[in-house]
Amino acid sequence: MGKPTGFLEIPNREISQDRNPLERINDFCDVHSPAKIDDLVKTQASRCMDCGVPFCTFSCPLGNIIPEFNDYVYKGDAVSAYKTLMKTNNFPEFTGRLCPALCESGCNLGIGFNPVTIKNIELSIVEQAFSDGLTKSFESPYMTGKSVAVIGSGPAGLAAAEQLTFAGHSVTVYEKQSKPGGLLRYGIPNFKLEKQIIDRRIDLMKSNGVKFQTGVNVGEDITFDEIAKRYDAVIISIGTQIHNELNIAGRESNNIYPALEYLNGAADEINDNFKDKVQGKNVLIIGGGDTGSDCLGTALRQKANHITTLQILHKPKDERDDYANPWPEYNRAYCESSSMEEGFATNKSEYLYTTTVSKFNKNSNGDLESVDLNEVIWTDGSFQIAENSFKTIPVDIAFLSLGFKGPKTDKLVQQLNLDLNERGNIDVDDTYKTSHKNVFACGDCSHGQSLIVWAIAEGRSAAANVDKFLMGETNLKIAVKPNQRGL
Ligand SMILES: Cc1cc2nc3c(=O)[nH]c(=O)nc-3n(C[C@H](O)[C@H](O)[C@H](O)COP(=O)(O)OP(=O)(O)OC[C@H]3O[C@@H](n4cnc5c(N)ncnc54)[C@H](O)[C@@H]3O)c2cc1C
Ligand code: SF4
Repeated sequence: MGKPTGFLEIPNREISQDRNPLERINDFCDVHSPAKIDDLVKTQASRCMDCGVPFCTFSCPLGNIIPEFNDYVYKGDAVSAYKTLMKTNNFPEFTGRLCPALCESGCNLGIGFNPVTIKNIELSIVEQAFSDGLTKSFESPYMTGKSVAVIGSGPAGLAAAEQLTFAGHSVTVYEKQSKPGGLLRYGIPNFKLEKQIIDRRIDLMKSNGVKFQTGVNVGEDITFDEIAKRYDAVIISIGTQIHNELNIAGRESNNIYPALEYLNGAADEINDNFKDKVQGKNVLIIGGGDTGSDCLGTALRQKANHITTLQILHKPKDERDDYANPWPEYNRAYCESSSMEEGFATNKSEYLYTTTVSKFNKNSNGDLESVDLNEVIWTDGSFQIAENSFKTIPVDIAFLSLGFKGPKTDKLVQQLNLDLNERGNIDVDDTYKTSHKNVFACGDCSHGQSLIVWAIAEGRSAAANVDKFLMGETNLKIAVKPNQRGL
């Protein structure tokens, strides 16, 4: 513990300011200011109490060794901080930007005070390491002669591939899109994660020996049997990108899109297929999670006239509910995403809670022109339409952001006739092994749609099990059990 009185002397959490919301909506660049280990970050790290029982570490699916790296940061030892962070997290530049920070919800200092700014410290460590040239290529001291195919290059597949390469296996990642990254690249907008951050990591992985075959849809462009012949083991990490539908009257109207189609089509100022459809228009986003929030930030950048987001649940309470949602659980109190902040700053966005849509109305050309809404009343976990709550609002374009289904209809999953669990995801045993010989699965396709941190944790853990399967023993660490429930 660097500074025993740190948490007493510095009661406030402080993070360097994000870019001004009214300025940043004019571009698709990162909403955050550049991160590095500066005096502010060191001072904040000194608030860590180096707890005997570090609930931050237990709350993180990766088990990040948080008190240790906080201490190194406070003391200005950027090299040791970076080495400590990389022991458990392959991609802190992704989690440091995008994670909802389960660790901070568990931080002991959050009881009665404000948690340590762990996520910001993590990002500062890794960005400092990149700018100081610490992120050098790794060369495995020996090669095992074994080969592994990883199908899908989201955070789960990337983490698994890197771990197995460190263990001396020859690893090839197959990806159906033209570039690796999964939802990091084809889903999460640039203003949350600039794509050169992913390219920088992929270049490093390539120099470490990971091979990438992009533009190859396994199950269509190449059969699974061909893959199986070439590799000693296979990891499937294909995610879950089939969206939930909304089968209500008028769904066939023009200008109703699944959120991912929109987010991929409006990647940045240059690749923007949706600009004319959104500029000056009234937008409806159905579903207020991460994906809905990303649609909001994108529509604001495309200069929509007004954006309504529907959320069927209640608005969360302003403060943590100590009875229903006690520490160290993930804190479900109200929290504004960067896109929500921008929406409120521009006065262009409103959130309608406990509200559902019952009908899409179209004009004589078949184009969406309005929607019928109703408030709902929740009782014992189910809802009813509230009487006399009907209203119609004008809407030109709507985005469905209602979550994703398991990979049941995926050709590869069908080709292998893989067992699925009760939630429609790929069933795995305690070692991440599927019902098919030599085939393992991890990430959203087996865990269900979740978070980047869970995908990385599962990728690392599946890799450890594959290494053990191939070699009889492993030095790789298992971070989480399969399907261990989290957010
Ligand atoms: C819009 C959006 C925003 C999000 N924002 C956040 C956030 O801010 N923070 C957070 O923690 N989480 C966020 N998430 C969730 C997070 O992105 C996912 O949980 C995570 O990416 C899952 O990783 P994965 O590796 O399992 O799968 P994915 O990232 O989905 O990657 C799977 C990859 O497999 C490829 N693939 C599929 N089938 C095949 C095949 N047959 N052959 C070859 N390749 C194939 C796909 O093209 C894809 O590249 C968000 C999700 C969405 C949709
Ligand atoms: S729980 Fe908070 S204060 Fe305690 S060790 Fe972790 S980060 Fe530091």
